[in-house]
Amino acid sequence: MPTCPKCNSTNLRRSHTRGLRERLLKPLGWRAFRCREKTCRWRGLLKMESPSLKLWEYLKSKKVMLLALATALCVIGVFTGILLYLIH
Ligand SMILES: [Zn+2]
Repeated sequence: MPTCPKCNSTNLRRSHTRGLRERLLKPLGWRAFRCREKTCRWRGLLKMESPSLKLWEYLKSKKVMLLALATALCVIGVFTGILLYLIH
């Protein structure tokens, strides 16, 4: 349950996405909320931890690892090629 960063209340409701910044942050798990407390009325973005997002981040980290591995193998390959060229 999200809590209000201003008054620590859990009495929040989802707010409509406004502007480009909020639209861009939405796919990254950020959601707009409005505090229902009459004395607070805070509105802003809060980061949501959804299972699908975690899976996506997991896959992304795997992809980065694979890319790093592929790059390392390429570098090793080129180095081996240069070494073989120098030896012969
Ligand atoms: Zn509040």
